[in-house]
Amino acid sequence: MFGVNRTTNARPREFATATMANGPERKNSHMDFASLGLSEKVLKAVEATGYKEPTPIQAQAIPHVLERKDILGIAQTGTGKTASFVLPMLTILEKGRARTRMPRTLILEPTRELAAQVEEDFHRYGVNHKKLNVALLIGGVSFDEQNKRLDRGADVLIATPGRLLDHFERGRLLMTGVEILVIDEADRMLDMGFIPDIERISKLIPFTRQTLFFSATMPPEIQRLVDQFLQNPVSVEVSQRATPAATVTQKLVRSGSAAFEKRETLRGLIRSAENLNNAIVFCNRKRDVAIVARSLERHGFNAGALHGDMDQRARMAMLDSFKNGNLTILVASDVAARGLDLPAVSHVYNFDVPTHADDYVHRIGRTGRAGRTGEAFTIVTKPDGKYVSSIEKLIDRKLDWVDGDALPKEEESGGRRKRHADKDDRANKGDRADSSNRPRRDDRKKPAAVAAESEENPREERRSKRGQKPRENRKRERDDDDRTGFRDHVPAFLLRPVRAKHSSPT
Ligand code: AMP
Repeated sequence: MFGVNRTTNARPREFATATMANGPERKNSHMDFASLGLSEKVLKAVEATGYKEPTPIQAQAIPHVLERKDILGIAQTGTGKTASFVLPMLTILEKGRARTRMPRTLILEPTRELAAQVEEDFHRYGVNHKKLNVALLIGGVSFDEQNKRLDRGADVLIATPGRLLDHFERGRLLMTGVEILVIDEADRMLDMGFIPDIERISKLIPFTRQTLFFSATMPPEIQRLVDQFLQNPVSVEVSQRATPAATVTQKLVRSGSAAFEKRETLRGLIRSAENLNNAIVFCNRKRDVAIVARSLERHGFNAGALHGDMDQRARMAMLDSFKNGNLTILVASDVAARGLDLPAVSHVYNFDVPTHADDYVHRIGRTGRAGRTGEAFTIVTKPDGKYVSSIEKLIDRKLDWVDGDALPKEEESGGRRKRHADKDDRANKGDRADSSNRPRRDDRKKPAAVAAESEENPREERRSKRGQKPRENRKRERDDDDRTGFRDHVPAFLLRPVRAKHSSPT
């Protein structure tokens, strides 16, 4: 989703052009990693990853980090920005060693997933730095293991702000030895209400430190932080391209505005997809993420949810499952998905039209990466018109509509439809508790086609020749018969046989 300078180099299309805000633009078409000043050990590790040349942000930032200058990097994830601080940090950390409870460097990340991802990158790029201690301080996991890591002395501490301050308040941590502070995804920290924590942490670290600050956007609150905590920073800006990759087919689909109607439209879209390898379904609200994922699962799709209310273990398991291909459809919110290094996907579905046009570009940038083809569908209801217009304005083109009538239809009884409508009504009033966060126990890969309509299914054809009802319909009848209202989750005591009362003879 980032632009490339097509005339000057042949870099994969994800990587952006960079401009130096306080210096002339440096072209890095002939630049290689060896000319950036990185150590031999780091260069070997980079070679092992197979990277051919630095991305623009790496080429621009790394020499300045090595000169120990403060950096203001205006860049999103996907630009190679993590390596732009990890690689020079590894080089710098080769000299000196960590002392107990006194980390030498600190990286702040807004979410546990991002923190874990940066830790992974340290291990990947630090394969030749065997003695380097990296500690991850994130919520949702026990303090004991983290304490042990801190006691051993951490060269690199990667943390979310809340957990870091918890350790500090318990007296397990001294920040006076921190030489490099990295504040990553600052605008997301702002979204998540972490700015007071960041200010507090920044004040606990010596003023003489080097600060590397990254943010995709620069709202006034972020600019204020930069003015307060960075000293004469070198600014490196990676320009975001507002037009999505040309290899992505983008379509709009009209739907009724009730959530159950949107879910039906979504199923129709998935069922009619050709070559669906894996997909992300984006919802605007995290409550809907859980509901949509669960509904897809109930309809036989291999789907799972990723949202901010899930516990750490469940989020990681879900993400791993999607990355390794065991999970086909990931339903996610923007906040949960932003910044994550998710695999390239064949299909993106916007269950809701994003209210910020930027988010649209970001979402559909998950497909059609590196010249591959991808498909993006956006479900549009009547009230969404203004959001569609602002997207079309941003990407500077009109989007095509899919004929909603051409989608596979589902036959549903009026009763079931009414129940859905009632349920949606309740959910909208906020009285629905959802517990669909757990990854599926049976996480074998199921192609989307498994969920295809039964007419194409030879087994169902045989059933109908035998005069049997299709399985799907039998299930529906069962559902409609469900008088307990618990559907598949009837408590055991209700299933126990009721013993008839013997009336005593008079
Ligand atoms: P990031 O923006 O740090 O999340 O990186 C996005 C992706 O780009 C990651 O999957 C990295 O492995 C990859 N990457 C980072 N640097 C390079 C490079 N110089 N060449 C090719 N891929 C890279």
